[in-house]
Amino acid sequence: METIVVKFGGSSLADAGQFRKVADIIKADDRRRFVVASAPGKRSDSDTKVTDLLYRCYDQAVAGGDYGSVLEQIKARFSDIISELGVDFALDSEIDVIRRHLSAEPSRDYMASRGEYLNSKILAAYLGFPFYDAAPLIRFAADGTFDEEQTNANLSAVLAMVECAVVPGFYGATEDGAVHTFSRGGSDVTGSLVARAINATVYENWTDVSGMLFTDPRIVSNPQTIEYITYRELRELSYMGASVLHEDAVFPVRKAGIPINIRNTNCPADKGTMIVAALPKEFRMRTVTGIAGRKGFTSILLEKSSMNSEVGFGAKMLGVLAKHGVSFEHCPTGIDTMSVVVSSEQFEEHRAAVLDDLNEVLQPESIVVESSLAMIAIVGHGMVAARGSAARIFRAVADAGINIRMIDQGSSELNIILGVDENDFEEAIRSIYREFR
Ligand code: ADP
Ligand code: ASP
Ligand code: MG
Repeated sequence: METIVVKFGGSSLADAGQFRKVADIIKADDRRRFVVASAPGKRSDSDTKVTDLLYRCYDQAVAGGDYGSVLEQIKARFSDIISELGVDFALDSEIDVIRRHLSAEPSRDYMASRGEYLNSKILAAYLGFPFYDAAPLIRFAADGTFDEEQTNANLSAVLAMVECAVVPGFYGATEDGAVHTFSRGGSDVTGSLVARAINATVYENWTDVSGMLFTDPRIVSNPQTIEYITYRELRELSYMGASVLHEDAVFPVRKAGIPINIRNTNCPADKGTMIVAALPKEFRMRTVTGIAGRKGFTSILLEKSSMNSEVGFGAKMLGVLAKHGVSFEHCPTGIDTMSVVVSSEQFEEHRAAVLDDLNEVLQPESIVVESSLAMIAIVGHGMVAARGSAARIFRAVADAGINIRMIDQGSSELNIILGVDENDFEEAIRSIYREFR
């Protein structure tokens, strides 16, 4: 029997009106039997996500402050949904459990997880589906690393026995029951895990846009929807900033060959984006599939004559970064120069120590640090075959009067990465978009 896993994001479950749309979507196709839910998101641009309120509540509790009014705000978000939908739900006793937790020794992850926990319980009651808590199913090791195989065994064993279920996204627990969350946006990962465990026909990820768009809609207005994209392309784009899907959500379904379909809760008739292992034969591949980027990078450029003949230079340079817990993103090299691009946030925390060590270990002639760098990834399997793609990118950016500060062509030939000044970020994306749309 065909089965579809549906995951609804925060904006899709932000209020009672959105809950009704979600129920209509589920009821429109009886294959939609397994539901993964996020915490209530923003109802408008100026609103606050319940997950952010929960973090704020926790911060105030551990600082010994008065968290009562934030907790009331959180409670009000849920009670509005419950009363408007007319669901029978014991919210007071649930909030009492949270209050007792806060007055003992609160856990940050436990608090953050309560948004998904309560929203999923309410959704289960509204749909008439059974609720399955994620804590005993989604397993993390004691050191916080995710245990995918144990999780898959747990989820398969429990969900194989049931007709339908609502499972909260974003969190699981260690063996001793301590709640642990994925990183932000992690309900996408939960949806993928459930899809793998029940061997779903498709994993539908319902959000507030009609699929993965050619670029960020906050930078370019109305970019077209990408109809088909491979798992690899999607991962490149989501890692580089296309925040519509968590970058780790690809792994569980990719293993099982299950496609992901990104859909819009507010426009359910739109087909959205299909994420697949290989594009269908009849599909005409575009040169560029999508463009994404992020700000907040720093480049560290080292110069030393005859560096290329010094065996182990690169390893030593990366070793210094690793020692200080700074991970590198890109590493373009020349004969006498080597640069690494790192996250500014990670670097700034250890700046002085990293530079001291680089000087001591590598004895370069110079070290130049350039911050406020933005990285832009132009991604597409089609670029390998299309001659002149790089030239088109560089001309488009140059014609916009923007100086390119770094170029890195991924070894897979799947992407070309540009570094530009943060102030040029949006315009650079717009100029590349105009060239390839
Ligand atoms: P959800 O709450 O449903 O998980 P998210 O906010 O995590 O939704 O992701 C959807 C948002 O991702 C969109 O509203 C959009 O602003 C943003 N976004 C950024 N880049 C892209 C892109 N390339 N395609 C689609 N959406 C994008
Ligand atoms: N609610 C969590 C967050 O805001 C997880 C999610 O929405 O996927 O990050
Ligand atoms: Mg999301």
